[in-house]
Amino acid sequence: MSLRQISDALLHWAPLRNVAGGCLRALAVGIVFYFVVYLLERASGGTTQQYRSRGFLQDVAYWFYYRSGLNQLLFMAAFFSFLGSRLAFLQLRIVGSLHPIVRGILWILLADFCSYWVHRLQHASRFVWAFHATHHAQEQLNFATTVRFHPVDHFISDTLKFVPQMTLGASPMSWLPLHLVMEFVLNTQHSRIKWRFGVLSRVFVTPWFHSFHHSTDPRHYNKNFGGLLSIWDHMFGTAVDAPEQPSEYGLEDVKMPTLVSTFVVPFRLLRQFNDQASSNSSNARNAIVIPRSAGEPPRG
Ligand SMILES: [Zn+2]
Ligand SMILES: [Zn+2]
Repeated sequence: MSLRQISDALLHWAPLRNVAGGCLRALAVGIVFYFVVYLLERASGGTTQQYRSRGFLQDVAYWFYYRSGLNQLLFMAAFFSFLGSRLAFLQLRIVGSLHPIVRGILWILLADFCSYWVHRLQHASRFVWAFHATHHAQEQLNFATTVRFHPVDHFISDTLKFVPQMTLGASPMSWLPLHLVMEFVLNTQHSRIKWRFGVLSRVFVTPWFHSFHHSTDPRHYNKNFGGLLSIWDHMFGTAVDAPEQPSEYGLEDVKMPTLVSTFVVPFRLLRQFNDQASSNSSNARNAIVIPRSAGEPPRG
């Protein structure tokens, strides 16, 4: 087969064309968000220095990886189609027959409730935390940090959310106004918009609210787990607020200065956890100790 034939075959290979189209969409959406968030950050007195950092470029790489559909193609599509066929009996569509607006609100409430508890697990389990650390290692929070997740962390959380979402039925995200509100809330929560959004922050996760989740201050460890809604944190006693935002973000003892390290370091962390567990193997209880919080990863 000649080079010409190979390049022709690649150009007409549907998955590759889909990812190429996804990259263009990711670029267009990214540019819109960049300008909207940048203007809001400037207007609210927030810093914009994060856009001149290496950490921002790492998150842009993650943005293209997830938003282009590449992760879906590599890991998720085949697995979820397999899982979906095996768990078809769970498709109860329990909110499917309701009025679209009621269905939308109920779907968001139930899906976000699950998301809150999955996030708590991401901090409570040593195994999952090792990979969730990639999200927390970012010291220069920016709008694209929303998608900075290690593929293993992403895979675990999507799998855990898959079953409850199957029982709920199709997502109401096709309803454009709701979709836009959710996209805005999710994509601005790692931005430096300094407004507190008043009473809205009692319901939605605002950038102010989520910033405490990434704080290096021990008083903020294991707080503000909410994904879209902050009501769960208020309900379960994990909400924290203060008149000033945290001065530093990231992890004290785990650094990920390069894009490659954001992928590799979690595996090293996992090995450290296993070594610690086996060094405590004389005491079976200690061998399964779980970390107390995201901000307190085992030292080393
Ligand atoms: Zn977290
Ligand atoms: Zn976050």
